[in-house]
Amino acid sequence: MECEVCGRKIWGKPHTTVIEGTEMKTCGRCARFGREAKTWSRLPKRESAGRVSLPRKRRPYSRRLPEIEVVEDYSSIIRRAREAKKLTQEELGKRINEKVSVIARLEAGKMTPSVEIARKLERVLDIKLLEEVSEEEDFSPASGAAGELTIGDIIKIKKR
Ligand SMILES: [Zn+2]
Repeated sequence: MECEVCGRKIWGKPHTTVIEGTEMKTCGRCARFGREAKTWSRLPKRESAGRVSLPRKRRPYSRRLPEIEVVEDYSSIIRRAREAKKLTQEELGKRINEKVSVIARLEAGKMTPSVEIARKLERVLDIKLLEEVSEEEDFSPASGAAGELTIGDIIKIKKR
């Protein structure tokens, strides 16, 4: 075949060259005047207009791992469960291997139990003190992000 720019015979594979926005089959020499077609993606936006790609980036909040939180009314839950089991603060302390002052502070709401202590209390008292706060519970379209939902978010909402 012949070069579309200079008309010379092309030996072997022709170059696909973009010269002023037009794709042409050229010889190696003329290829230097334009751009190789495969570099199209690097062209200015104006020339690739019409090709709209969907946002693939996920929002940071959707990557958040589930968090474990102690329920808000842990103090009354612990006290009521302890009383129901007819245990004194001291006895409960012994069962979970903590000082009585720790139990007193927990029941007074002056100290939030650590996950470790909460787990022991859950086991001994048959109560639920820990809850998993997952990203989906956290996410609310009313929180101001409604206007900037991505396709991924919309699919997620529809699935619920
Ligand atoms: Zn040429």
